[in-house]
Amino acid sequence: MNNLKGQCRCGNIHFNIGTNINLSQFQPRQCDCDFCRQYNAAYFSDPEGKLDVVIENKEKIKCCGQGDNLADFLTCNQCDSLIGVFYHDDKQWYGAVNSRNIDSQFADDLTISPKKLSADEKKSRWKELWFAQVNIER
Ligand SMILES: [Zn+2]
Repeated sequence: MNNLKGQCRCGNIHFNIGTNINLSQFQPRQCDCDFCRQYNAAYFSDPEGKLDVVIENKEKIKCCGQGDNLADFLTCNQCDSLIGVFYHDDKQWYGAVNSRNIDSQFADDLTISPKKLSADEKKSRWKELWFAQVNIER
């Protein structure tokens, strides 16, 4: 697996990714909801990959619910970066990261509109697309 690193602008939140996806061919998913557009976020995830997130100072982060309040968006208050989005299904975490925090060349963004999906459709989509091996150290 290839290892990738990412972080928010100030470094308070950083993460490591293990993936076999060829990033230059991956189209980050740009969500068209108001929240994601405010951060110009576009998401990368690999259901077969691994995601480890480390939070240095948890006083300076914010988690807020969006998308029918099913998902938690992780942002850094210190530098106002959106790191990623996470969902817990009572068993485990799933997650996707904001590709803007990864120093790699991706393919063009793909606009998506999850706000049109029902809660159940969202959940099954996330389980299909997002990292399923997620570790968050806080
Ligand atoms: Zn930060």
